Amino acid sequence: MKQYMRQILKLALGFLVMSSALTFVLFSIGKLRVNTEHSELLDRSYSNALRARTLFLITPTVNRYGQLAHITRLANTLRQVENLHWIVIEDGNATNPNVEAQLNRSKTKYTYLFAETNRTTLLKGRGVEQRNLAIDYIRSLKPKDGLVYFADDDNSFDLELFDVLRRTKYCGVIPVGLLAQLPFEDIDVVDDKVVGFFTIFGFDRKYQIDMAGFVVHVSAFYKDPVPKFYRTVMGGRLESDFLAQVVNDPSELEPIARDYDRVLAWHTKSENREAWTVDRIKSLYPDKWKRARKLIV
Ligand code: UDP
Ligand code: MN
Repeated sequence: MKQYMRQILKLALGFLVMSSALTFVLFSIGKLRVNTEHSELLDRSYSNALRARTLFLITPTVNRYGQLAHITRLANTLRQVENLHWIVIEDGNATNPNVEAQLNRSKTKYTYLFAETNRTTLLKGRGVEQRNLAIDYIRSLKPKDGLVYFADDDNSFDLELFDVLRRTKYCGVIPVGLLAQLPFEDIDVVDDKVVGFFTIFGFDRKYQIDMAGFVVHVSAFYKDPVPKFYRTVMGGRLESDFLAQVVNDPSELEPIARDYDRVLAWHTKSENREAWTVDRIKSLYPDKWKRARKLIV
């Protein structure tokens, strides 16, 4: 009997040693993971709750050099994002079937509308009518929660951006990369409060932030008057004028990406040029191009 007891004791001791060793190994791996990545993103329940918040992305687009390439690149990013509603607005009097085909292939939830830019004024703000139509569309859906982000068709985005945007309570702000010769714009924060902006132009703007640098809760669009973009606003001031309708002071802005030491959104630019038509190329190089197809590009 005594021998039997000793055997059990031995087994229990062995089990204890083995399981504490295993716990130690797992704990070390866990610590390593937490140290090398954002612990918040590893916390599955936290990110699941975060990702339950709908993200509305507003993208004006226009038939110009590289449009399909830009839409395709953006679609390839957005197809990896959960709980996203992509609102694309074509600048014109109709939608573009080639753009629509690409939106369809992306398998993302999207709405494709059109609105024509008013070109009768000297004020050349881009995407004004398109973003305003998207705002009206979101209002018509009457969402209680959700965030609205303005993603121009030629910008580039890190996948982690879409988790970061969802941290926003009312109006979040983030740094933006590549604004002409400026490598990035950033938010000046003291004691967790926004006190200013790091940029090199438009110092007279109250909110010195690019279109890709802020995100707004849907509740802002139930205000009266509804925050909108105005063609009457001078160039480069669309964002500041818009944010002034959303918040009362820069200190109300939430710097949501302070734990990131890298940019998550880039203001990459489309090339300002015109592609030749295939007919023109055929007339210039008739022998070489006589059997050439007209590919969608
Ligand atoms: N855009 C538009 N109509 C235009 C020019 C631009 O709808 O006539 C769209 C464009 O597709 C982009 C946004 O408005 O999503 C901003 O335009 P752009 O990228 O040319 O501006 P920038 O890069 O200079 O800020
Ligand atoms: Mn652009």
